[in-house]
Amino acid sequence: VLRCENLRKSFRGNLVLDDLSLDVAEHEVVALIGASGSGKSTLLRCVNLLEQIDDGLIHLDGEHITDPRVDPDRVRRKIGIVFQAYNLFPHMTVLDNITLAPTRVHRRVRAEAREQAMSWLARVGLADKAGEYPDRLSGGQQQRVAIVRALVNSPRLLLLDEVTSALDPELVGEVLTMIRELKGEGMTMVLATHEMGFARQVADRIVFLDGGRVLEQGPPEEVFGAPRQPRTQQFLRRIV
Ligand code: ATP
Ligand code: MG
Repeated sequence: VLRCENLRKSFRGNLVLDDLSLDVAEHEVVALIGASGSGKSTLLRCVNLLEQIDDGLIHLDGEHITDPRVDPDRVRRKIGIVFQAYNLFPHMTVLDNITLAPTRVHRRVRAEAREQAMSWLARVGLADKAGEYPDRLSGGQQQRVAIVRALVNSPRLLLLDEVTSALDPELVGEVLTMIRELKGEGMTMVLATHEMGFARQVADRIVFLDGGRVLEQGPPEEVFGAPRQPRTQQFLRRIV
């Protein structure tokens, strides 16, 4: 589904992605781990074309999406992204937040979008919240709504950036359950996380980033159970 080849990205001379390559197969769940500043968020933002890479190539379903002639909005409709702080619009209901993008188009499309949004809300047990404003929902419910919003375009790929780190510990579980269910349905996902326990449970592959490079990757048992690189060992020792 996704192929990143030799990505390079700097911010004002500070090299953040350093010749980074990563492939993600259909239905695969990849967890990006690594110290703060290792480039996890930047990688996700580059894939979603929110940041421009300086060098390298990104392919989505075989299409070269970092080609300057590509329309980024069209590509973004195929990629759902959810960030750490649930960024729902406070002045809009849950349903309007979710259908936001599609409502600017035709009425029929709008009706379909609402239908799809309602069916997703029902699946995650939030159908009764469709007409509520975000501040009436718990953090975990808000974050699940943000994930539903990322799903309404039926994306090919879902990018999740620390989606539980702004939540109170007792609300983390419901969001993780939703992600586990999406995996069960075959959603291809790349998630940046500091939740090693969750990464271990849900990911097919762990990718350890260090200084903007993939230092080590493999199945969770290998990377967590027997990390090969001293830097990975050091990172995991510090975190658990
Ligand atoms: P964390 O675990 O804290 O979320 P991360 O792995 O997601 O960290 P990034 O957010 O990708 O790390 O940041 C990597 C580096 O890029 C950091 O040194 C950061 O300061 C820098 N950086 C990120 N975005 C920008 C920006 N818009 N302008 C300048 N520097 C940036
Ligand atoms: Mg980050």
